[in-house]
Amino acid sequence: MAFDRLRGIIDDDSRPLPGDLPMSFVVTPPAPAAVPVAGGAPGAQFPVHRIYCVGRNYVEHAKEMGFTGREPPFFFMKPADAVLPVAEGMVGRMHYPSLTKDLHHEVELVVAIGQGGRNITAADAMKHVWGYAVGLDMTRRDLQGEAKKQGRPWCIGKGFDESAPIGPIRPAAQCQVGPDTAIVLDVNGAKCQASTIGKLIWSIPEIIEHVSAAWTLAPGDLIFTGTPEGVAAVVAGDTLSARIDGVGTLQVQVVQG
Ligand code: MN
Repeated sequence: MAFDRLRGIIDDDSRPLPGDLPMSFVVTPPAPAAVPVAGGAPGAQFPVHRIYCVGRNYVEHAKEMGFTGREPPFFFMKPADAVLPVAEGMVGRMHYPSLTKDLHHEVELVVAIGQGGRNITAADAMKHVWGYAVGLDMTRRDLQGEAKKQGRPWCIGKGFDESAPIGPIRPAAQCQVGPDTAIVLDVNGAKCQASTIGKLIWSIPEIIEHVSAAWTLAPGDLIFTGTPEGVAAVVAGDTLSARIDGVGTLQVQVVQG
């Protein structure tokens, strides 16, 4: 009876139902962050939902940061609009950020999630991967160091504007990512970072298992998988050339902020 009465009210009422209410944004919504797709339809873009980053995921980098041994993986995030997308064959321009005197490069394999989920097992993880890209987890190392010392969040050291330069995302089927895959970063033509994906402490499927245990993964999520040893400071005028064999390249020039 109560249900009939409710139906009557809804049917007879000329006022719009909540779902039909015209909606308007009170400020202009920002354009969604997006990264070009390599080897796809012209203009194809991968929309960015969240950016997860793995800390200390190569043994030699963990050592250079003052840690040893295999610890459980840990994560931090960057805002989606921290991406600085660089199209195939182009040179991106990253503005030297404010507040720092110690901007570091960290070259990383980026995993792009195409299928979301929670509590994904490592055995099931690869079917959630849409593609891969070369990325740079740019870091205001002095601010990150101060945050560590004070027990404060890392946001200011890691999650600033343009802190995630990234090359085009290549569909997984077109990539060859294996243990011997080289990951390399040159600065002004000199080799700074060089390793292989097999040296990841936590593998891609294991990372997906851990991230999806803590957050619901969604299509559009990016995971920066960690950097090998050789991180160092860059200054305005430097050109960073990153490469992951079978995935792609990324070139970025640091320009005056
Ligand atoms: Mn990193």
